[in-house]
Amino acid sequence: MKKFLHVLMAIVFAMVVFYGTAPSDVQAKTIFVTIGTGGITGVYYPTGGAIAKIVNKKRKQYGIRCTVESTGGSVFNVNAVMAGDLEFGIVQSDRQYQAWNGLAEWKDKGPQKDLRAVFSIHPESVTLCAAVDSGIKKFSDLKGHRVNIGNPGSGQRQNSIDALEANGLNYKKDIIAESAKASEAPGLLQDGRIDAFFYTVGHPSGAFKEATAGARKVSFIAIPNVDKLVSKFPYYAKSYIPVKLYPGAVNDKNVPTFGVKATFVTSIKVPAKVVYAITKEVFDNFESFKKLHPAYQVLTKKSMLEGLSAPLHPGALKYYKEVGLK
Ligand code: GLU
Repeated sequence: MKKFLHVLMAIVFAMVVFYGTAPSDVQAKTIFVTIGTGGITGVYYPTGGAIAKIVNKKRKQYGIRCTVESTGGSVFNVNAVMAGDLEFGIVQSDRQYQAWNGLAEWKDKGPQKDLRAVFSIHPESVTLCAAVDSGIKKFSDLKGHRVNIGNPGSGQRQNSIDALEANGLNYKKDIIAESAKASEAPGLLQDGRIDAFFYTVGHPSGAFKEATAGARKVSFIAIPNVDKLVSKFPYYAKSYIPVKLYPGAVNDKNVPTFGVKATFVTSIKVPAKVVYAITKEVFDNFESFKKLHPAYQVLTKKSMLEGLSAPLHPGALKYYKEVGLK
């Protein structure tokens, strides 16, 4: 017995030396998680910030430290989450569908079976804007013009290609397609180096505020044949650009287009307690979360469980069951 006590005391002593505290209040190690977002003038970046802000408030309780990274967008985020370089990513709902089913950029790699959905967030619209002096008044005028369709790794690149194809335009032959990041596009447009650009984003966004506030006048261009796109692709829905958000644009009526949803994804490899904590904090603080960006105005808790293609992560599902959302 005495020997046992000596051994026990030695262990306690070793722990005090090692952790600097007695075993009863040994702190769990901080878990660092990073959210992949998009360009800083998009809505993903502030969205990552909004989630991180809410989660980091409970840092002592969960031991989670959440940070945000600006990235090339949806496709980059899926790949980084699958590679374990990021724990979470914000991803367009169409890109989530394609990654889960092994389509588009994932055609060769196959279905991304470790991908898990957590919740969906704000609606995003495929937004096309053009410089008035370029003579682009309607979609078919894009022909022969220099148009930014988006960087590889972005969500919008495939949306731009789909919009062009639905209107009989081939992005390799009929336009001069540029592959710049959305954060650079407004500057390129204002400098006269491109005539128009596509960006799939929530509204209002810094990118379109910047694009419509310069000396070169800019208008949003309607996307025709949306019905065709919506019936061909299960993940597209009709939408419009609320032009009152951009008083600098020359449009006076809302502009019809199509859209998707921003969604929050992770990997099955990320521990359930981490996903549970983030889900719980966002949903338990839903009203304050909603105030963090005007694009969240339309959100309801129920709508945040719609538009997801990959299975729910068990950590998120646990929370939804607890509160009766599932
Ligand atoms: N939808 C864009 C993408 O997936 C990003 C939009 C944003 O950053 O708000 O690349």
